[in-house]
Amino acid sequence: MREICACGCGRPLDGGARGLSATCHQRLRLRLQRGSSDELLDFPRRCRPADDVLDDWAAMRADGATREEAAERLGMALESFERVLYRHADDPRAVWGVRRRERASCVS
Ligand SMILES: [Zn+2]
Repeated sequence: MREICACGCGRPLDGGARGLSATCHQRLRLRLQRGSSDELLDFPRRCRPADDVLDDWAAMRADGATREEAAERLGMALESFERVLYRHADDPRAVWGVRRRERASCVS
């Protein structure tokens, strides 16, 4: 099934956030910026807020989880998860951590 814009306009999803088509997302975002409508807020963000991800990652890393394991548990693609870490590199929780392969190095 092809996903369509959450606002009900029937446009295909083509890269807008919050389950909206790019056109509708842009339109609602502009309205929000101008203060004429806050309709955009009726559509929840689809991705987990980075803050949540970083909190969970900090906890999982403390338990010795690798980035791959963390991404899997967060239900994210490793690539998206790493993008969050990269984007928030100045956040103390966004420690790069280890990937499974790197972890295999032996400590004798
Ligand atoms: Zn729409």
